[in-house]
Amino acid sequence: MLIAGNWKMYKGPAEAAVFCRALRDAGLPEDVDVVVCPPYVSLEAAVQALAGTEIGVFAQSCHWEAEGAFTGEVSAAMLHEVGAYGTLVAHSERRQWFGETDESAAARVRTALAEGLDVIACVGETLAEREAGETEAVLRRQVGVLEHDDNLVIAYEPVWAIGTGKTATPAMAQEAHETIKSLLDVPVLYGGSVKPENAAELLAQPAVDGALVGGASLDVDSFAAICRAAVTS
Ligand code: PEP
Repeated sequence: MLIAGNWKMYKGPAEAAVFCRALRDAGLPEDVDVVVCPPYVSLEAAVQALAGTEIGVFAQSCHWEAEGAFTGEVSAAMLHEVGAYGTLVAHSERRQWFGETDESAAARVRTALAEGLDVIACVGETLAEREAGETEAVLRRQVGVLEHDDNLVIAYEPVWAIGTGKTATPAMAQEAHETIKSLLDVPVLYGGSVKPENAAELLAQPAVDGALVGGASLDVDSFAAICRAAVTS
């Protein structure tokens, strides 16, 4: 089981260090892989605060070129240099607000993996797509541009469930994860309003290999509770 916390645009370096020190003292279960994804500027603080622990630090995206005139972007090698172990790619907020496409997502994934970073690539349908019966077609399109890699994990995040308090039912998650796994044999995390109260039920689904957690990962107690729920699932 892998539990990853996506901090989005929360927690600067000082707050990240305080959070990570509390997380290392939170008594996380040993048999669950735990990852935090701070904003770029807080990566180094998180890496330092978690040094000597098994908790991984991932970025939230990275560029597909090694370097160049790409204002505002960060390369995979730069992430490596500050001690990041991996990166998220193609979170739906990147797709929605920053023009991420399936093709740019695939290019970022390829480069990050080639640099030796682990990757959590995000896929998922919008509410309109689900209501139009297009969930499977969307997943086929988004997953279809990716290739198998031992260091690749996919996060199924139905866009309508992210930050909305609406969660996919365990059956919906199971069905989508089965579709993804039929396309690519990689671990699949569920993301979308995962909280301590619903984590165990979602994580108990056979095709759910962990969770990508947004809002509930910003609080040490709720994030640690989700990590603990992963043990019993
Ligand atoms: C996310 O940001 O990946 C996410 C799933 O957010 P939330 O848990 O807040 O819905």
